[in-house]
Amino acid sequence: MTSSGLLQIRDLSVTFDMDARPVHAVRHCSLRLDARETLALVGESGSGKSTLARAVAGIVTPTSGSVLLHGHDLQRSSSRREQRRRIQMVFQDPDASLNPFHRVREIVAEPLIVRRFGNRWEIGRKVGELLALVQLDPGLGGERPRNLSGGQKQRVAIARALAMDPELLIADEALASLDASTAAAIAQLFLDLGRRLGIALLFISHDLAAVRCLANRIAVMFAGEIVEQGDARAVLDRPAHPYTRLLVASMPDPARRSLDFELVDAIDRLPAWPDTPGACHYRSRCIGRADVCAAGPSLAPLAASANHLARCHFRDSGTSP
Ligand code: ADP
Ligand code: MG
Repeated sequence: MTSSGLLQIRDLSVTFDMDARPVHAVRHCSLRLDARETLALVGESGSGKSTLARAVAGIVTPTSGSVLLHGHDLQRSSSRREQRRRIQMVFQDPDASLNPFHRVREIVAEPLIVRRFGNRWEIGRKVGELLALVQLDPGLGGERPRNLSGGQKQRVAIARALAMDPELLIADEALASLDASTAAAIAQLFLDLGRRLGIALLFISHDLAAVRCLANRIAVMFAGEIVEQGDARAVLDRPAHPYTRLLVASMPDPARRSLDFELVDAIDRLPAWPDTPGACHYRSRCIGRADVCAAGPSLAPLAASANHLARCHFRDSGTSP
């Protein structure tokens, strides 16, 4: 099959076996990402965002489904290694991903050596270019990670990812460990790099507010499923799934505060509800649940917009449940 999209995630599931008890971390997720696009993947902790990202990046093997880059299945592709290179990840904790014994310029040079970029001189020049791209003082090339600030370390991690010349950069909570002003600067850097280098971005966050300035499109995960996806403005202005409505209502926007407290109050008053197979996974928390929710809805377009999808029987009701 040919595809105009850069990345296609098709019916992807990842199940972990924990003491013979399966953990369905990702369930039947399908997503598309076009070249130069910024897609934000949001959802609370444990909803499966990292597992989905790791399956896309080839760090985790999917239980079923497929990931296609330029229409080529990454599981099957004969040039799998080369394809994998084109998808790079930046993680939340740079301390865990940067070798503390190496100097910055060695850390950034390593992927260039692995991909046989050139001779020593060419690699040295490329490292200088990459440090400039992430706006790091070239004088820091001789430092070790412990002498850098959190933001500087994250810039090194980004430079190392860029050294692989990726088409897709996945930032998994890459701003979460930074203070607010540093996070804003790194977010801006991701956007600039996306535009200047034509790289697509998959931006993962548990915090919808953190991604609202970044994303063209938003996908919302809950309990391993994508419960809503659409253009960023549509999802933020007209959230159609009750979980997205809760996330939007919880965003730090003074005009929405009263709604925030109402919803959170209502959630607190909910009875526990067993997770019945086949039922909507959000049902136990949903203040708008009805008998029909015992049959889990599929992710389907809203009547008003084919590009805006939600996994809720009441997606077209247009009001907070
Ligand atoms: P998120 O990134 O949204 O916080 P994760 O993808 O990390 O969510 O986790 C989704 C679910 O999968 C959680 O229940 C988590 O405990 C489980 N999980 C993640 N990785 C593993 C693993 N390697 N082995 C077993 N369970 C895992
Ligand atoms: Mg995660």
